[in-house]
Amino acid sequence: MKPAIICLPITIPADVKPGLALTPFTVWTVSKLLALSSVCSINLTGMKYAGMGSNEVTGRFTTFKKIMDRLGMRFDSYWLDNEQSHVKSLQGYCDELASSHCLRSEHLEILSCDCGAVEILKDAVSSKWATERKLIKDVDGQLQCRLCHSILKSDASQVLVLNSGFNGNPITAFPTFYQKEVDSLQAEYNQPVLVSRKRKLGNKVWLFGREWTLDTDFCWSFLFRSLQKAGFDSEVVVISNRSIKPLVLSYGISRKTGANIKPISAIVTPFATIKGGLASTSHQITIPSLVDRYGATPVRFLLGDCLKWEQKDLVVDSSIIFWTMKALEKAADYTETAAKVVSIREALSMSDGNSIASFITGMRRSEKVSLTPYQKLLLGKDT
Ligand SMILES: [Zn+2]
Repeated sequence: MKPAIICLPITIPADVKPGLALTPFTVWTVSKLLALSSVCSINLTGMKYAGMGSNEVTGRFTTFKKIMDRLGMRFDSYWLDNEQSHVKSLQGYCDELASSHCLRSEHLEILSCDCGAVEILKDAVSSKWATERKLIKDVDGQLQCRLCHSILKSDASQVLVLNSGFNGNPITAFPTFYQKEVDSLQAEYNQPVLVSRKRKLGNKVWLFGREWTLDTDFCWSFLFRSLQKAGFDSEVVVISNRSIKPLVLSYGISRKTGANIKPISAIVTPFATIKGGLASTSHQITIPSLVDRYGATPVRFLLGDCLKWEQKDLVVDSSIIFWTMKALEKAADYTETAAKVVSIREALSMSDGNSIASFITGMRRSEKVSLTPYQKLLLGKDT
């Protein structure tokens, strides 16, 4: 088993923006600093790809991988939620959950919309833990789908329900101020979760004498189990602070399959918005366009500048790109510090975005710059 740092599956949009690259960037840097195998997980199924052919979806992944390569971010492995080995294992995972009564077939009231994005247990709709709440809006007491604006209809049907209720607190959060939120989710996530879908499209399993279409998110929730099968022991997972709920759910589901999934550390990245020098077109700033114009190194510095660990949401000034380029022109003489990183705490402290500006100033001023292992990564001297 290879000890690994991973991320939850990333859904790849048409344009890869800096905010999206922050999670894989953190997987890559911390894997190098702590000598862990790196696995970048990708989500290639579900509503986000509706209407796209399979070639087009595969193309999204190919493009994403090229972008990561251009940034100098090479992972030991990619995990795809449409991989045949994973899809074929779903029946076995569901059998395990059914035999321990975590999965049940029940006749329940379901609320659903016209486009298929919302399908939720009526009893769970007001729960603060309901993952579909962000897709629902309340208009004068009527619940509507945010995507198709249809009013949710209620009808009773036979559905597949997961009994959540995740025992213990096996997730340790970094920075530590996220621990309270993680713990309360782990302790209180105790409601039935609807995992079957009415629509025909999706992965199928046979349980309780009939066929079911499974919810996409439920299918990738076996990620930790699937990686274990592939020989990776997930020791660290990187998530954005918008993904704490999916982490608790997927990690909890993976553990419920009965496999020995070890406790895990979760590195939670801030949510960064890029402003400043490139601001007038900030909504169009994509990683490929930045790398085309400025090269990979200044873009890695921009990503590094976003990791101000003590903040939850921050605005980053894109002019850091220009300052990095000016500093690189000076071509200072670099030496290495002997710093060895042995813990997540040390890795985060070394990679804190607050030190980027002073590092750049140091590069511009001094003729001899001493590099930490993290700064070597930023400068592309270790890839
Ligand atoms: Zn809808």
